[in-house]
Amino acid sequence: MFRNFKMVSQVVFGRGCFNQLSDILSVQRKKGASFAVFIVDHIFENRPLRDRIPAEGRDMVIWADTTDEPKTTEVDRLTAMVRAQANSLPDAVVGIGGGSVMDLAKAVSLMLTNPGSAADYQGWDLIKNPAVYHAGIPTLSGTGAEVSRTTVLTGPVKKLGINSDHTVFDQIVLDPDLLEGVPTDQWFYTGMDCYIHCVESLKGTYLNAFSQAYGEKAMALCREVFLGDPPDREDKLMMASYCGGMSIAYSQVGVCHALSYGLSFVLGLHHGIGNCVAFDVLEEFYPDEVNEFRRMMEKHDVRLPRNLVQGVDDKGLEKMVDVALVLEPLWENALGKNWKTIMTRDKIRQLYRRM
Ligand code: NAD
Ligand code: ZN
Repeated sequence: MFRNFKMVSQVVFGRGCFNQLSDILSVQRKKGASFAVFIVDHIFENRPLRDRIPAEGRDMVIWADTTDEPKTTEVDRLTAMVRAQANSLPDAVVGIGGGSVMDLAKAVSLMLTNPGSAADYQGWDLIKNPAVYHAGIPTLSGTGAEVSRTTVLTGPVKKLGINSDHTVFDQIVLDPDLLEGVPTDQWFYTGMDCYIHCVESLKGTYLNAFSQAYGEKAMALCREVFLGDPPDREDKLMMASYCGGMSIAYSQVGVCHALSYGLSFVLGLHHGIGNCVAFDVLEEFYPDEVNEFRRMMEKHDVRLPRNLVQGVDDKGLEKMVDVALVLEPLWENALGKNWKTIMTRDKIRQLYRRM
């Protein structure tokens, strides 16, 4: 069976296109007592973007704290808040921020129409009902969350996405102007998420011409952005993120992402930085790319935190190994059908101990 791949329905791209959001939403707004929900990264509470959010009437603007990555409990809390606002569903849920906020918006739009807790739906295709119309507006580029069919959540027992066709955004607004003002380290870590998506897709056994087409373009853009100095680097990184996301959507990520999930579950490390910490010890699997990654770090004077796993006790380390090992498709993509003979618990422990 071939995957029948669900894509974002509508995309607007260009500097300043955020100004069109009001028009875009007006098509969705019903007459009468309807409302829209804007979930916005709290960083913008005191920035000029705040005044450009086209909220009107009974609309809700929710400032999302992104200190921690999204949890199922937070999704449940926000969903209850929106439900308490009115007897009817909102016309739209709009997420404005990095991967964390885009994922929150996706998850809330799904949970408004599906009963229970977000934790019940962590997995593949467990969602029964279509979501409320939802739009994603990245203010940080690299994760590919704007195009993916998942929303990654930390639940009570696992860090796993709600993967479904209904998760995919109905609309994305790609405005490179919104990337201005991101601190260099954050820009780099999230950008490297994209670079690593490309590496893991292009080096994986699941590779096909669809994924390769997007992966190679995204990789070329990443090289321009992180090794060159293009004047339009925000535009390029935004499209790299998009293409990188499209590439893995039809293939899979690999060793680095599997290990990074364990790091983030036990240490609370964010996805981008966790990927960088893990990637830096993977020269055995991706030799040329790890070297290139180190050149990129050097160029941007980024210093990775070291010895993070030293202080983790045995129980923590075993949990990391468990979280990583659950991600079987990632290992199979990276290492082939016989991955279990290569990636033993002991091998994973050794890799973690170097981080
Ligand atoms: P993020 O959304 O967690 O944001 C990181 C930091 O950057 C936050 O402090 C935020 O306030 C700040 N920030 C965002 N935009 C800014 C701006 N324009 N200026 C200044 N600061 C800004 O970071 P991220 O790396 O984009 O996303 C990571 C999250 O994405 C993780 O939760 C990860 O699991 C998820 N993710 C999802 C997918 C998917 O397909 N759904 C893929 C990869 C990662
Ligand atoms: Zn990633």
